[in-house]
Amino acid sequence: MSKANNSALQVPEVDIAIIGGGSAGISLAAKLNNCSALVVEPHSPAERDCSWALWANPAQQQQLAPATKGSWKQWRLVDDYSEVLHSSDQYRYTSLSSAQYMEQCEASLAEGVNVIRAAAENIVARGNGGSFTAAHQHYSAAQLYDSRPPKIAEHGLKQHFLGWDVRTKTPIDDPDIATLMDFRVDQSRGLHFIYVLPFSDRRLLIESTMISANLEDKDWYRQAIGQWLDQQNIGIEETLGEEAGVIPMETVAPLDSDIASIGAASGAVRLSSGYAFSAIQAQMTKLANGIHAGEYSVPTPISPALIRMDKIFNRVLLAQPELGVSIMMRTAKALDANGFARFMLGSATLTDWAKVILAMPKAPFLKQVLRP
Ligand SMILES: Cc1cc2nc3c(=O)[nH]c(=O)nc-3n(C[C@H](O)[C@H](O)[C@H](O)COP(=O)(O)OP(=O)(O)OC[C@H]3O[C@@H](n4cnc5c(N)ncnc54)[C@H](O)[C@@H]3O)c2cc1C
Repeated sequence: MSKANNSALQVPEVDIAIIGGGSAGISLAAKLNNCSALVVEPHSPAERDCSWALWANPAQQQQLAPATKGSWKQWRLVDDYSEVLHSSDQYRYTSLSSAQYMEQCEASLAEGVNVIRAAAENIVARGNGGSFTAAHQHYSAAQLYDSRPPKIAEHGLKQHFLGWDVRTKTPIDDPDIATLMDFRVDQSRGLHFIYVLPFSDRRLLIESTMISANLEDKDWYRQAIGQWLDQQNIGIEETLGEEAGVIPMETVAPLDSDIASIGAASGAVRLSSGYAFSAIQAQMTKLANGIHAGEYSVPTPISPALIRMDKIFNRVLLAQPELGVSIMMRTAKALDANGFARFMLGSATLTDWAKVILAMPKAPFLKQVLRP
């Protein structure tokens, strides 16, 4: 591989340039060695801090420990009629500080792999590589990877949420249980649930999450959180932060199809759930291994078969949103904790799939399977 040329008179040329140093970009950079590489990212990790959650296996629990804000071996889903409580002996539902994770990756970069704290502009693809400017400097790379967020279709299905980081007045019950979905909220505008991560008995991340085509006013989510807290008799002593986000649940298009995209831009976000962290980790590990062996193409993050299943699930939700709560509760009831984690991670076994398919209402799914 060529060495980076940092001469002030010539265009710096590197083996690999990665546009965007988020989950995918900085994870890939941290796995590279014996090459010259640049990650171009305008924001510091602290400026982009948010919560990234995943079901972590024992190896990940260890590897991600420095960035872990909280982890739970028990999680629950609740509706008006019942509660499903899962207790796993393998997976922990884990919430990471994205800033700490990205700082950890940046601190571990090999010699010759550097971060430029600027936006990439004037990006021009040339074969597998290309050129761009960043902080008024022109760069070129033999291989370019693009992780800039993809375009979101305005009227497509999305997961959208607003959450509060709060300190409660009094200790809550069950701080050892993560509430993944509590459906006892207004279901009139789409599939809606409250998500609660107790980082301690008095510190909670609490989000109102919607799965629908249309975004709501911020006050709508805030009101839903307030109502849920009232129902639970939980008083807030202090709100420490607010976080909002939109995750597309439809096939996305990268900003520039001439550049090899990675991460969310390459379709790494699970269409039925919005989770992406584990798929991105697997994709970046395979890609880095390929690069070290001279193979630069980007591995598919999610199998076509799983994408097809997720699309059918989403079509059912769009056609009959009133079935959403029952579908999620039936899925959770059909599986044990480890099966549910595997299902959410996209690594369900054939037995897991059989249990879920048997538990589903048949007619709505058949209608969408047979739809052209
Ligand atoms: C608010 C939110 C919460 C989420 N929570 C979860 C979660 O809990 N669990 C989960 O599994 N998934 C979650 N996701 C899904 C999410 O898409 C991924 O987890 C992950 O962030 C995607 O990684 P990525 O590297 O593809 O994109 P990002 O992490 O978004 O990184 C893209 C980077 O590109 C940079 N960039 C943009 N333009 C330029 C430019 N011109 N030049 C250089 N850099 C540029 C951005 O600053 C950004 O840092 C969440 C998504 C959102 C939006």
